[in-house]
Order: sequence, then C-alpha cells, then structure tokens
Amino acid sequence: MRYISTRGEAPDLSFEEAMLTGLARDGGLYVPEEVPALTEAQIAAMAGQSYEDVAYTVMRPFIGETFDDATFRRLIAEAYKGFGHAARAPLVQLAPNHFLLELFHGPTLAFKDFAMQLIGQMFQEALGRSGDRVTIVGATSGDTGSAAIEAFRGLENVDVFILYPHGRVSEVQRRQMTTPVEGNVHTLAVDGDFDDCQAAVKDMFNDFAFREEVKLAGVNSINWGRVLAQVVYYFTSAVSLGAPHRKVSFTVPTGNFGDIFAGYIAKRMGLPIDQLVVATNTNDILHRTLHTGAYTKEGVTQTISPSMDIQVSSNFERALFDAYGRDGKAVKDQMADLKAGGFKISQGAYQALKDTYDSGRASEDETKAAITGYREHHGELLCPHTAVGVHVAEAHLGATPMVTLATAHPAKFPAAVEAATGIHPPLPPRMADLYDLPERINRVGHDLAEIQDFIRTRTLS
Ligand SMILES: *Cc1c(COP(=O)(O)O)cnc(C)c1O
Repeated sequence: MRYISTRGEAPDLSFEEAMLTGLARDGGLYVPEEVPALTEAQIAAMAGQSYEDVAYTVMRPFIGETFDDATFRRLIAEAYKGFGHAARAPLVQLAPNHFLLELFHGPTLAFKDFAMQLIGQMFQEALGRSGDRVTIVGATSGDTGSAAIEAFRGLENVDVFILYPHGRVSEVQRRQMTTPVEGNVHTLAVDGDFDDCQAAVKDMFNDFAFREEVKLAGVNSINWGRVLAQVVYYFTSAVSLGAPHRKVSFTVPTGNFGDIFAGYIAKRMGLPIDQLVVATNTNDILHRTLHTGAYTKEGVTQTISPSMDIQVSSNFERALFDAYGRDGKAVKDQMADLKAGGFKISQGAYQALKDTYDSGRASEDETKAAITGYREHHGELLCPHTAVGVHVAEAHLGATPMVTLATAHPAKFPAAVEAATGIHPPLPPRMADLYDLPERINRVGHDLAEIQDFIRTRTLS
C-alpha cells in the first residue's frame, strides 16, 4: 500500500514513512493510493468480536509491510489495554433511534487516545528497529496534546513538544499536559489561538533545514496513522447496530475534520453508512462551506467546546482531494487561495461534498441547553463537544439508527458541565490526583524563532 500527497508533488511513501513524516513536503497530506474494501462477510463476522480483533481486520490492509501480523496484533493489544472499559468504545442508548458512542475511556478521557495510544506503540516499534530518534511537534486545542504526551511520555527514541493556546484550554486539559514529569515531554503555552499554534507547526515542517536538524515528526490529526485508528470504532458501533445488514448514520463533533474523515473512510471500505453529519459549534466554517460552497475564514471565537474552536480545518484538505477527483493541482491552488482568506469550491467538487456530508451547527445556548436537557431527560452527563453533536443529530434523526460520537468525558470540561447542570462531574478514580500534582508551564510568544530555539536547546545536546 502506497501513500500519495493531496497536492501531488511529494514522493509517494510507505505506511511507515507516511506515519513518521506526518505532513508531506509539498505541504499536502498523505492519503492511501486506494481504499481497500472489506466484504460484507468480513464485516458481518465482526459481530461479537473484541475491539482489538475488529481493529486488526480494519487496519491490516493499510499497514503493508510496516509490521508483520503478530507484531501488529501486539501493538493493538498494548495500545488499548489501559482503557477503562472492556468494550473500549461502548454504545449507550439515548432515545429509540439515537445512540451515544463513548470514546472517552482512554487515559486522557477524549477520543484522541484511540489514535494516539496506537501511534505511540507504532512509533516505538518502528524507531526501536531503526535506532532513529525523532522530535514530535504538535499543536493542540487541548485534547491532542494531552493524548500525545500520555502516549509518548518516557519513550526512548522520541522528544515531544506540544504547543497550546495560552489560557484557552480547560484546566483538566492543561494539567494533563503540564504535570507529567518525564524529561522527553514538553509543553509550550503560546500567546495566540489554536490556529496560530497550528500555523507555527506547519511553518516548522516547511522549514526543511530545521526539519532535518531536529528530525521533526508530526502526530497532529493530519497524520494518516491517526485517521486510520479512528476508522475502527465506526465499524464496531455500526456492527452492534446491525451492519452490514442495516444502515447506520453518524453525527460527529468536528474541528479539524479528522474524526469525520475516518467515518468517510469506513464508508469507502464498505460499511453501510447513511448520513455522515458534521456538527460544529459557532466556529462553523465547515457548516457554512457545506451550505454555500465557499470556504471563507473568519476569526476564531472562544466557546465552551474549545477543542472545536478552529477555522482552518486541516483534514478538510483530504475531503477536497477526493471531491476534486484526486486532482492534486486543484487542491494546491485552493490552499494557496486559503492563505489569502478563502476559496470557492468548483461546482462538481461541491456536489461531491454535499453528497457525502450533511452538517449542522450549535450555538452556545443550544449547547448548554443540550447539556441540561440530556441530564434531565436522558440521565446522561455530556461534555460540551458531545452536546454540540447531540443537538445537531436531533435534526437528522429518522428511520436509520443515529450514532453521535461522545468525544470527551464530561469531567474534562467540569466548568461548562457544572454551569449547565449544577453537577460537578468527578474525574474517574484512576486520575483523581490530577489537581494536586505540580505543573511545568513554559510561556512563549507567538514567534517562530523563539519556539524553534526552545525546541533546539532541548533536543540537541
Ligand atoms: C479533537 C476533538 C474534536 C474534534 O475532532 P476533529 O477530528 O479535530 O474534527 C471534538 N471533540 C473533542 C473532545 C476533541 O478533543
């Protein structure tokens, strides 16, 4: 299996190379040359299997020669053994035809753990083999950073630097990033918003001298390995609800478009997905794009669902690439226009996107009302991102079972949950000491040279 860039001008790579590289050298994102399909019999056989067994079947065709079968099974087992639920991604029923897929039983209480724990295992295995050392740099709106730090802390061949927007992540998110004591993990509190952090990371990848110097690797949601790991729970949940014999729809709280794109890959692999609904908060660029065909940046506003406070949605480029019939030149031109503020999607590509994705948006009031209402009428405490999802899903309920992805545990966003319900959601016992541990906080300006210096002095001895 080979991986190609969405901008058509970078060398094609193996799974291992694409995973270790992250961003392509032409600024594009790696995608598989083709998406392997599973047969209906293969999907039917997943009924009653463990999460790990389904994960193996779904991901194996994408891995190529990077890991042999037994090794890959071992990495999957290691990745998910620390989850706090035997099903890994359990389904909860909210209403007759509406289900919640709980993706928050991992070590940092958000769905990012599903991908990051596996990426940590895969990096360790690949780097242990080659003896190479890499520097992972990532931007986070809160959850990616904590998941990455949790996955890589203490690993031998990796230094990790996570940039987060100062003052714009929840206290639990911040503490999960700043309390680990291992010397190979570092967090940088950047004066700016998430898009500034993400832009700094992109600029570092495009600085080829720096990239070589510190052996940069990326684990942001642009990393294909992450998208791939997220395809799995679409299969486990849909199969529990009757797939492949019955269609299932999904609503996905969306920021960087990684999680919903994984759903699209599941559909391309043969999972009978009916609707794939993009749910945004008031930072609704994706919802507007799907309604107007124009992708136009506006300023980021702060919401109670901070992991979705994003305007430049990196993985949307992968969706565009397919919508444009995999024309790298067209994607490259549109991305150049984006630097100047936005672009208009061609008629054909726009139609392709509309045929694939539905969308909706939740205002702050609607999000709060969903948290309150689901507590009162369904007995469920929702995190604010999940609340955006269920609000949007309600407008799309019908004869097909709807699964809304619960992307984080309510205890990760206690202030918002308490304001809406009067209940302070407790952390699971295994992490109850989080508020007592000392923090390491490194403030930096929104300044590329300063950030690069910080990284250099901590990686090169
Ligand atoms: C990252 C995140 C999202 C958005 O996921 P994308 O893959 O970036 O679209 C939604 N909710 C939570 C809790 C997250 O951490």
